Amino acid sequence: MSGAAPKPQRTRADRLAERVAECELDALLVTNLVNLRYVTGFTGTNGLALIGSGGERTFVTDFRYVDQAEAQVPAEFERVRGRQDLLGDAAAPLSGRVGFDDEHLTVGAHRRLAELVPDGVELVAAGGLVEELRAVKEPAEVERIARAARIVDEALGALAEQGLVGRSERAVAAELERDMRQRGAEGPSFPIIVASGAHGALPHASPREEPIPADALVILDLGCVVEGYCSDCTRTFATGALDGEAAEVYALVLAAQERALEAVRAGAGAREVDAVAREAIADGGHGERFGHGLGHGVGLEIHERPRLSPTGEGTLAAGNVVTVEPGVYVSGEFGVRIEDLVVVGEEGPEVLSAFPKALVTVG
Ligand code: ZN
Ligand code: ZN
Repeated sequence: MSGAAPKPQRTRADRLAERVAECELDALLVTNLVNLRYVTGFTGTNGLALIGSGGERTFVTDFRYVDQAEAQVPAEFERVRGRQDLLGDAAAPLSGRVGFDDEHLTVGAHRRLAELVPDGVELVAAGGLVEELRAVKEPAEVERIARAARIVDEALGALAEQGLVGRSERAVAAELERDMRQRGAEGPSFPIIVASGAHGALPHASPREEPIPADALVILDLGCVVEGYCSDCTRTFATGALDGEAAEVYALVLAAQERALEAVRAGAGAREVDAVAREAIADGGHGERFGHGLGHGVGLEIHERPRLSPTGEGTLAAGNVVTVEPGVYVSGEFGVRIEDLVVVGEEGPEVLSAFPKALVTVG
């Protein structure tokens, strides 16, 4: 074969360096460990990276992680063994305008950094640069999230066969966690919610020792981690016959969820998508009972950009992975929430959560 050599693929550090230059910074200090993992691949608990606008890339860790960094951090980075106080090692060679992560760096660490940098260095608040890149997933990231979503589908399927009535919420949560690990998850992506009856009216209920009653609604909100990437899914099961209001609310939340899903596409406003579900629920007479945002981005963290809420900013982009999770919470009686994990595409969403959404009755 003849012809030009294939163009080398731009790395995440390349794309970040471009953003650093666009922000008129000379360098960006990456200190948050999740951002550090995204940019460098490093999964240890002490490290930082310096990304220069002109192509300089330095990774610093302490002696405990030198071997791990050799294995995980690509050679495009100069890998430096620092003292345990890495800020000092990173600060010494700095010059010009240096961005730091004001969303994550503590006030104390910032003060120390300001003391350590040479005279003439201007420290500039530049939080969110890595998070912006993280919000648009690469195919390999989507694949991991999809695997994590599949494990949740399977765990819900197994639970529906085992039954719920008479088991404690806590026992069901523990069993879901064990089952997801058995199926290949590294662990849950957040503490699992199992909330029956009136307890389900609290959107962030934690599981109790209480036995799950018959003829109630049970909110099951769970996710797991696969190769560092999270999933998130909610289903609301019935444990028998429901009274009219509960059945009506379930149908309303499902209709709102499906309408909002249809609105998820590249270019849609984060607020507009939220408003689709919010209006549907308000039209059904329960507007005051949907007290949280419609959804959130999911990736290396369970809550990341973009946010779908009445105050959400910006528009969705192809490659965003977001949840769509309206809920109605009737205080003292029950709650309903239905949550899918979806990949934003140009034409519409690719739904990763496959467990059925028609009301499932589990005895
Ligand atoms: Zn959830
Ligand atoms: Zn969620």
